[in-house]
Amino acid sequence: MKNRLLFLGPPGAGKGTQAKLICQEKSLLHLSTGDLLREEVSSGTDLGKIAESIMNKGELVSDEIVLSMVEKRLSSNKKGWLLDGFPRNLPQAGLLQELLEKLDQPIKTVLLLEIDDDTLTKRMIARGRKDDTESVIRNRLKIYRDITSPLVHHYEKLGILKSVNGSGTVEDVNNQIKGALI
Ligand code: AMP
Repeated sequence: MKNRLLFLGPPGAGKGTQAKLICQEKSLLHLSTGDLLREEVSSGTDLGKIAESIMNKGELVSDEIVLSMVEKRLSSNKKGWLLDGFPRNLPQAGLLQELLEKLDQPIKTVLLLEIDDDTLTKRMIARGRKDDTESVIRNRLKIYRDITSPLVHHYEKLGILKSVNGSGTVEDVNNQIKGALI
C-alpha cells in the first residue's frame, strides 16, 4: 500500500482538500505545514509571531522552522503519512530525505496536482484566506514557479512522481488520485 505520500503542486491546486480525503480513506497522518503554521499564528506562539508577517507576504518561512514541525510529528507517528506543502524548495527536500533515512521511512509516491494559473487564482480568491489577496497570490505563484517547482524534476528523476490534472471536481480529482496511488 502507498502509505507514505507527498503532495506537490501550486497554491490553490486543491492539495489540502484532496489530502484530507486521501488521509481519511487510508488512515494516514495529514501533515500540512501551512495548517501547522496557521495554528501557531492563531495560538499566538513565538513561532507564530515570526511566521505571520512572512506568510502574509506569501514568502517562505525558514527551513529550520518547518523541518522542526515536521520532524516532531513524524518521529512520534506510528501510521503512514501524507506531507502537504512540504518540502517547498530543494534544501527542504534534502533535509526531509535525511530525516526519512534516519526514520527508515522512504517516500513511496509524490503526487503532482497540475492546474492552470487562471483556475488557481480564481480558486484562491474564492477561498478568501488572509494571504489570498491578488498581490500576495501573484507572489506565491512566482515563488512556486521559481523555488518549489524544481522539486518536480527532482522527484521525477527519483522515479516516484505521478501527475494528476487538478482542474476537475473534487470527486473527479479524488478518483484520479486513487487511480494513481494503486
Ligand atoms: P499553504 O497553506 O501550504 O499554502 O502555506 C501557507 C504559507 O505558509 C506559505 O505561503 C508560506 O508562507 C508558509 N509555508 C507553508 N509551508 C511551508 C514550507 N514548507 N516552507 C516554508 N514556508 C511554508
